[in-house]
Amino acid sequence: MAIASINPATGAKLQVFQALTQAEVADRLAQAQRTFEHYRRTSFEQRAAWMTAAAGVLEENKQRFGELMTLEMGKPLASAIAEVEKSAWVCRYYAEHAAAFLADIPAQTDASRSFVRYQPLGVILAVMPWNFPFWQVFRFAAPALMAGNVGLLKHASNVPQCALAIETVFKAAGFPEGTLQTLLISADRLADLVADDRIKAATLTGSEPAGASLAAACGRHIKKTVLELGGSDPFIVMASADLEAAIATGAKARLINNGQSCIAAKRFIVAEAIADRFEQGLVTAFKDLTVGDPMATSTDIGPMATPAIVQDLDRQVSACLRQGAKALMGGNVAALLDTLPQGLRSGYFYPPTILSQIPPGTPADEEEFFGPVALIFRVPDIDAAIRLANSTPLGLGASAWSTDPSEQDRLINETEAGCVFINGLVKSDPRLPFGGIKHSGYGRELSHQGIQEFVNIKTIWIR
Ligand code: NAP
Repeated sequence: MAIASINPATGAKLQVFQALTQAEVADRLAQAQRTFEHYRRTSFEQRAAWMTAAAGVLEENKQRFGELMTLEMGKPLASAIAEVEKSAWVCRYYAEHAAAFLADIPAQTDASRSFVRYQPLGVILAVMPWNFPFWQVFRFAAPALMAGNVGLLKHASNVPQCALAIETVFKAAGFPEGTLQTLLISADRLADLVADDRIKAATLTGSEPAGASLAAACGRHIKKTVLELGGSDPFIVMASADLEAAIATGAKARLINNGQSCIAAKRFIVAEAIADRFEQGLVTAFKDLTVGDPMATSTDIGPMATPAIVQDLDRQVSACLRQGAKALMGGNVAALLDTLPQGLRSGYFYPPTILSQIPPGTPADEEEFFGPVALIFRVPDIDAAIRLANSTPLGLGASAWSTDPSEQDRLINETEAGCVFINGLVKSDPRLPFGGIKHSGYGRELSHQGIQEFVNIKTIWIR
């Protein structure tokens, strides 16, 4: 894949970047290691001052950075600006809490004194996706850098301008040269890179095949990985639910970020008793939203980030329809393009789509639908709801709607996912750990669990 900025709203090529040469990558790796040797000795207070400054740089430039994201991957501008603000939040959060999260932990043993000390590992490679181009990177970098590590960022090939802008944030904040560097390289060069002794661990947010490939390369060299992969999150609505709230939140949960979020609600599992009303409500909520130019304030849903996503959705939806599913709305790209202004007709748009009565054996069983497509399944009771929720290989998040405490308990205990949100939208929050189980990955980001992923948990025993 070429390293290029292409405006997905129009298909216009904005800028193409040359990949770094081997020598340039070697220079950056050497710089990262040199920086680590002294950066690891800086105090939490010093790192917190730099990280707080990084939050300030983000906030001062939120309009510019937001526009860059919208231009390169198509999310509506207001949500791009909100993403910059959230990135500043995670910087401030770890600036404030890192020292406490990584303080020595005393233990009572046969020693005169024994304790656990957390120490940085070194150079950490971060392989990141385009869908939240700032948030995903800061969610890694804020804890990793506060722990005393340094980072090398290999960002997705379609957001190179965001990748370069992120590097400038750390420089402008005053971090030592080389604390976080961007490597503009293709993914096929990562296996060689992780073989280098100076890379101590890696994290990847993205698809299952990419995660498996990087983890395999790291495994060959005994290096730790954290994987944040795909989701096919259930959104379970029981008959006792506040239906109006479930519908409004369900529409938002499916369509956030143009439907391209790992924790978007993808499979709506609805109790038969309320299913007709839920379907009608969701259709009305989807129809209220405007598809168009993501830079315009009136737009709710912009284009998909790449043509491949449109093709994938088209294949998945067509397969479901061929096998007997019913489209309550959407599913027709050409019809949507006809409604858009001329300048957007070569953009990568996919219409908000709702499929119902989906038979078994379609891509909806196993695949992630990474776009504005809601899949509705009807179930007779909570047993069937939980069985269906757990029937995919993925296990990232789950949103479950019920006002019955015993149902809530079962949904919390029996849903196979890294998080369960009861009567609310699944979202990431610096104060709570984030990550998946099953094929959605392993390890956690955020909160105190997140900062303890890339550290040596060193046991100290003194006679
Ligand atoms: P992707 O193709 O896997 O790309 C993600 C990153 O991995 C990019 O930097 C990509 O580089 C790199 N990559 C691709 N193939 C690789 C390989 N074989 N080895 C190592 N690195 C490789 O994912 P995407 O389509 O951009 O992102 C969408 C996916 O990410 C969805 O499945 C979504 O659910 C998931 N996601 C998960 C989370 C989470 O927190 N769990 C958050 C956001 C997104 P190139 O761009 O150069 O190919």
